Amino acid sequence: MFDVIIAGCGPTGAMLAAELRLHDVRVLVLEKETEPASFVRIVGLHIRSLELMAMRGLLDRIVQHGRRRPAAGFFAAIPKPAPKGLDSAYAYLLGIPQPVIERLLEEHAIELGAQVRRGCAVAGVEQDDEGVTVELADGEQLRSRYLVGCDGGRSTVRKLLGVGFPGEPSRTETLMGEMEVGVPQEEIAAKVTEIRETHQPFWLRPFGEGIYSVLVPAAGVSDRAEPPTLEDFKRQLRTIAGTDFGVHSPRWMSRFGDATRLAERYRVGRVLLAGDAAHVHPPIGGQGLNLGVQDAFNLGWKLAAQIRGWAPETLLDTYQAERHPVAEDVLDNTRAQTELLSAEPGPQAARRLLTELMDFDEVNRYLIEKITAIGIRYDFGAGPDLLGRRLRDIDVKRGRLYELLHRGRGLLLDRTERLTVGGWSDRVDYLADPTAELDVPCVLLRPDGHVAWIGDDQHDLDDHLSRWFGKPAN
Ligand SMILES: Cc1cc2nc3c(=O)[nH]c(=O)nc-3n(C[C@H](O)[C@H](O)[C@H](O)COP(=O)(O)OP(=O)(O)OC[C@H]3O[C@@H](n4cnc5c(N)ncnc54)[C@H](O)[C@@H]3O)c2cc1C
Repeated sequence: MFDVIIAGCGPTGAMLAAELRLHDVRVLVLEKETEPASFVRIVGLHIRSLELMAMRGLLDRIVQHGRRRPAAGFFAAIPKPAPKGLDSAYAYLLGIPQPVIERLLEEHAIELGAQVRRGCAVAGVEQDDEGVTVELADGEQLRSRYLVGCDGGRSTVRKLLGVGFPGEPSRTETLMGEMEVGVPQEEIAAKVTEIRETHQPFWLRPFGEGIYSVLVPAAGVSDRAEPPTLEDFKRQLRTIAGTDFGVHSPRWMSRFGDATRLAERYRVGRVLLAGDAAHVHPPIGGQGLNLGVQDAFNLGWKLAAQIRGWAPETLLDTYQAERHPVAEDVLDNTRAQTELLSAEPGPQAARRLLTELMDFDEVNRYLIEKITAIGIRYDFGAGPDLLGRRLRDIDVKRGRLYELLHRGRGLLLDRTERLTVGGWSDRVDYLADPTAELDVPCVLLRPDGHVAWIGDDQHDLDDHLSRWFGKPAN
């Protein structure tokens, strides 16, 4: 009997497994594929995800495998520089191959004690008052107290639960791949700028070591069931640019659509959904993996609390209450971005207008904070603007704030030096006189770094400790 079975060892499943292991939860990850993914798609880790990695001491390991790029040019690929003074110690984009981030997260989960079984596809799910019976494709049955479906956009778990996945089917198909080019970079850059004024979606971006990321419309490339070929890319490039830039030696090529769908529910009893299993949307803005990893970060400590027995009654349901609206917002911004990429005169005019508006720092900042997820504010009730937001990494007297969150526990930062976490000290750490950088007396942080309380009164603090961390131990 495991505490939690996770279906799917993609980035969401691996992150969730690691988060649960921080709290000694017995975790089994079942992954359908026998080998890790072989394609080499470069994805962008946005600011909030970099912050999460820093909060668990993983960032240094990850950064070595990626390439830092400015935190800009995401929204509908409108090329504007990043606004000044973004509120983060990690204000950049990390381009990293998806299989590498998946491997690093899986290794991290295994180091913490998670079991991963490959070649095991979840095929059946039954739940009762005590737990969940998971049936594998070969008929083997396993039991756990909870199951989380992190099994991607076509999630078997979601379908078995009968959870609706309403939204829009794919309307536009796009080809994307990474390959080498046969012409000098300067020649490409000038041509690309010219074409992008009239043709969207399109890009030809250098990724280092002579490799370019190529994105072109799939319109006219006939058989959707067949994987695209290099000849398909060349033909599309010639149609758009009048040249195929001598592309050759592809590392991978894929075709994707712009289906936009959101699960009606994230929880049915003892079974939950996270990542692409709960939401799919076009990749514009590079948010899907980030959103899934952030779902896992939100869910992990709550599910662990449920298993450890100290979770307040409603804690697990705050996962859906907090994350469903975030996904709704991401779906909406990708819908908007997709419209702005259309070559039709109306969307092109809207794009020109938004391009002008983004010269206003506040507009640019708002959009970047949305895409990078540092603008998220969970609804924790009335209170100062900081309540419900994440706290950025700041200097504290014993180093950096995020270093104090490596163990996935709550944290009270107390400038008054009068308060105590008392009977919650087995779940919540305490730091007196933390830093002058805080301009409020005391802050209670949840294990995911979101501000759960601000104040200076012990009774009020105790109420909030109970709200988030359950009954005190004594
Ligand atoms: C072209 C393109 C570019 C993208 N670029 C970005 C980007 O820059 N930034 C970004 O954040 N996102 C990007 N994304 C989105 C990102 O790839 C996904 O959102 C991300 O992979 C979702 O992670 P996941 O773990 O939720 O699901 P997945 O990565 O789909 O992982 C699900 C796992 O579950 C396994 N599985 C499936 N069924 C079962 C079963 N029945 N039993 C057991 N295991 C099962 C699968 O084999 C897989 O390993 C891009 C997507 C595309 C198509």
